[in-house]
Amino acid sequence: MEQQLNIGNTKLTPDEYLDLFRKSKALLDGHFLLTSGKHSAQYMQCAQVLQYPERAAILAEGLALAFQDQGIETVIGPAMGGILVAHEVAKALGVRALFTERENGIMRLRRGFTLSPGERVLVVEDVITTGGSVREVLAVVQEFEAIPVGVGVLVDRTGGTVDFELPQSSIIQLNIQAYEAQECPLCAQGIPAIKPGSRKV
Ligand SMILES: [Zn+2]
Repeated sequence: MEQQLNIGNTKLTPDEYLDLFRKSKALLDGHFLLTSGKHSAQYMQCAQVLQYPERAAILAEGLALAFQDQGIETVIGPAMGGILVAHEVAKALGVRALFTERENGIMRLRRGFTLSPGERVLVVEDVITTGGSVREVLAVVQEFEAIPVGVGVLVDRTGGTVDFELPQSSIIQLNIQAYEAQECPLCAQGIPAIKPGSRKV
């Protein structure tokens, strides 16, 4: 199939990308009680921005632009978070999209998906915090003797500490600080904490 790039002039500035997350309620500012029991002043739920297809496309095109000259043949991401991202980035690059999923805890290609030896593959994910899932996908790509060409993520929460030893690109970098309740500056100010996902948010 002839590769057809579908990238508009949609490269935004870092602040414009952040605004897109904020107006989608994917990035919330306030005082949050996290499932870990810690508190934070920001909360990220990437799925909130991806619910709007035109915004998902804008974010994906930003990643596609970073890798458009790399001869990417296939984009692959881990289920669930990586499925939509892989699909949208693949659409922008005019190539196919695959996803991996865990079977008995092991990351695999299922559903008859396959990669060819030498195939140039871009690995994508919605959010990385430790990079663990991305590493598992890279291992799958290598099992098929395909070539991982780069890693693209929408939200890098690693603080730039994860190195996949490949070209890496992210749309936004976010370092959300979490505090123990007794050390939380927002609690000290008497601001009530909200559980993300409750109806108030
Ligand atoms: Zn607090």
